[in-house]
Amino acid sequence: MEKDMNFEDLSKTLSHSFKNAWEALSEEEIKRCFDFNEGYKQFLNVGKTERESANEILKQALARGYKNIDLYLNGEEKLVKGAKIYAMNRDKSIVLFNIGEKPLKEGMNIVGAHIDVPRIDLKPFPLYEDSDMAFFKTHYYGGIKKYQWTATPLALHGVVINKAGEKVEVVIGEDENDPVLAITDLLPHLAKDQVTKSLAEGIDGETLNVLVGHMPIGDDKTKDKVKLHVLKILNEKYGITEADFMTAEFEIVPAGKAKDLGFDRSMISAYGHDDRVCSYAGLAAMFELGELKTTACGMFMDKEEVGSQGNTGSQSRFFENIVAELIALQEPNFSDLYLRRCISKTQVLSGDVGAAYDPNFAGAYDKKNSAHIGKGVQLVKYTGARGKGGCNDANAEFLGEVRQIFEANDIVWQIGELGKVDQGGGGTIAYILANSDAEVVDCGVPVLSMHAPYEVVSKVDVYMTFKAYKAFLNR
Ligand code: MN
Ligand code: MN
Repeated sequence: MEKDMNFEDLSKTLSHSFKNAWEALSEEEIKRCFDFNEGYKQFLNVGKTERESANEILKQALARGYKNIDLYLNGEEKLVKGAKIYAMNRDKSIVLFNIGEKPLKEGMNIVGAHIDVPRIDLKPFPLYEDSDMAFFKTHYYGGIKKYQWTATPLALHGVVINKAGEKVEVVIGEDENDPVLAITDLLPHLAKDQVTKSLAEGIDGETLNVLVGHMPIGDDKTKDKVKLHVLKILNEKYGITEADFMTAEFEIVPAGKAKDLGFDRSMISAYGHDDRVCSYAGLAAMFELGELKTTACGMFMDKEEVGSQGNTGSQSRFFENIVAELIALQEPNFSDLYLRRCISKTQVLSGDVGAAYDPNFAGAYDKKNSAHIGKGVQLVKYTGARGKGGCNDANAEFLGEVRQIFEANDIVWQIGELGKVDQGGGGTIAYILANSDAEVVDCGVPVLSMHAPYEVVSKVDVYMTFKAYKAFLNR
């Protein structure tokens, strides 16, 4: 061993440790970070369902000059460099494009996120009365821990297509003056049997019934007086009847607004960071892009929490159909090959949240291979379960390219996987575009209490994810 070797320098050169992103930001940038998160909280508050989020994304896109793809398809608008286009899919998912200099058949840069959130849906025939109380029967959506949804204020969001075929929008429980709804839980005094059950079994899916009223109307001959009262109120306010529930989509979500968390206001407590946080970061990034060589695309998709199936999920052909339409505008002799080439040359950051290391549940994680809140945007090379089953395993070459982009743009980033080996697992939309031959890596915000009614993110990670997406798309 050399006697005069400086081991401190050697360690600095050879070893790696992850930075705290707060410490990497200037005072001015910390201010920008806090301002950015005010916009994010507003986005959370106005969009609690996939429909509301898609609508808010549309509203913000329209305000920035994005135009409906139909205007390009019918020739009213010309598909030129710099064009800003949106395509809405059934009011539940939406895609934005900023057209670049290169033809689309040479590929795109995409940030793809999802706007559906775990929640509790109403069954198609939900309303009933029992013991002088009116309830909604429900069927949960996505991966929830059922016990977390009891004894907490809830709101009802949805759309009804009434008998006349009109669409009626319903939101109850969000305004300061609105009533809220709730799922009751058993008092501890009588919970001797319940508390010995596992967390998974303590609250049964069929007991997630939402309490919605208890004051009767009518006379001695009236049946189900409490239920009738609820129907009367809904009819007066929204013009709907019991039969209309059958053709409606109603979602029960936690009531209330996003709040700063911590004395230092460094975090946000809110419903549905997964995945409106990556959606907002991607949207904000799209809005700040300059002139592009390669077309940039922001995808805000539905149904990720239940496997991305259906015509509004990422597995739908909707997205490729839209891209094919755009290519056909650029290539007079359109061939399906151009679409295939486009996707093959496309690079994607699959914008979804990661599991942040939680020292209170240390045993579920490999600390060294987990993301930590405050250490910046998180890359996830692979997801999946057991032996990487069902994963998208990003290629080293692509990861290398992303690393270079991040380092050239002062992005504080970290890498981590979803918990320790064989502890569980999960997935995102990453594999879907990868199956069509694009390069894809998961990249997003680490979250604490993921899928709980109130999740936690660090503001600096939200901001760093926005910067990372912007650097990736701005090429
Ligand atoms: Mn997600
Ligand atoms: Mn999720």
